[in-house]
Amino acid sequence: MNYKNPDENGYYGEFGGAFIPEMLYPNVEELQKNYLEIIESEDFQDEYQDLLKNYVGRATPLYFAKNLSNKYKTQIYLKREDLNHTGAHKINNALGQVLLAKRLGKNRIIAETGAGQHGVATATACALLGLECIVYMGEIDIQRQAPNVARMKMLGAEVVAATSGSKTLKDAVNEALRDWINNPVTTHYVIGSVVGPHPFPDLVARFQSIISKEIKEQLKEKTGRENPDYVIACVGGGSNAAGTFYHFVEEKEVKIIAAEAGGLGVDSGKSAATTFLGTLGVLHGSKSLLMQTEDGQVIEPHSISAGLDYPGIGPFHAHLFKQKRAEFFSINDDEALKCAFELTRLEGIIPALESSHALAILDKKKFNENDVVVICLSGRGDKDMETYLKEIRS
Ligand SMILES: *Cc1c(COP(=O)(O)O)cnc(C)c1O
Repeated sequence: MNYKNPDENGYYGEFGGAFIPEMLYPNVEELQKNYLEIIESEDFQDEYQDLLKNYVGRATPLYFAKNLSNKYKTQIYLKREDLNHTGAHKINNALGQVLLAKRLGKNRIIAETGAGQHGVATATACALLGLECIVYMGEIDIQRQAPNVARMKMLGAEVVAATSGSKTLKDAVNEALRDWINNPVTTHYVIGSVVGPHPFPDLVARFQSIISKEIKEQLKEKTGRENPDYVIACVGGGSNAAGTFYHFVEEKEVKIIAAEAGGLGVDSGKSAATTFLGTLGVLHGSKSLLMQTEDGQVIEPHSISAGLDYPGIGPFHAHLFKQKRAEFFSINDDEALKCAFELTRLEGIIPALESSHALAILDKKKFNENDVVVICLSGRGDKDMETYLKEIRS
């Protein structure tokens, strides 16, 4: 079975596809027809790889965390996506898509963002490559994420408030889709995770797959073998996890573990653990698992980390879950917080709250002493200092 890529209609098993209003067909079809040829061309790869190296700062280190390894009595390597320019893996995708948009002849970029991290990455890529950038954001999120709003504005992006519904991410998605329908010729919609209609999940996974490509090369150099025993990543929509798993999903000896946000607990009514709580449905243009009521209303998710606070999961991951190719754990807010402080004290690295969910797997699963365990440290903790400060004071 092929886990890595969808079929020609964008399906990973029963998940995926493109469920979109008819007025979006031209935009999505243009992408479906062209994305592979463009991003696999030598010309594109030359420019993209050069920017990843000299602008983003890749390859990111694969760091053997000695102190953490001693504590958990296993061999732990951290893939340091936190060291990327703008502080997380999201720039890998944002740069790739903005480059792709240029080659499609677009001069205007739209995006939507919840916590603001994807908005900042997209605004950064647009500043660098000289494209107009409009970021839709829920009115409530604009208030909650003031520093990232300031960054986007400083980078030259226009931040537009979504004022309908719950005034959060899903309303921003609706505004972005409306914009795209109205501006099909000039505009590309940069989706920030492995979600959305085909070809977005595959497109984003390919841009993030650099993570596992580097892990293979770096692990070979450090240990003599390119496959670890385990790869672990947190899953919101699933882009850092897709990148971390990509080159390992067909390697049977590599075990794959995904960490979802349990929030206050899977049964608390305040959770974002999609594979535990989700059922089959259509969200943001693709068929996947999502948290919904019996009559199909999306349930508001909750997580302490804004980046995991999403009611769905990409079709790539839904398929890995259904086929039992990956093992899913749900990590609660307090468990993630504890691991953020633990990594900081043991290794001098302040992780993002999202990434701390992946670290918390170390408490959930027993590893052998000689196991090579690679954890994706998807981002740095600067953006989460307010939450960490509250914890220090309490
Ligand atoms: C956005 C974000 C995530 C969650 O998004 P995925 O698409 O699931 O990777 C995880 N970690 C960090 C640091 C983020 O900014």
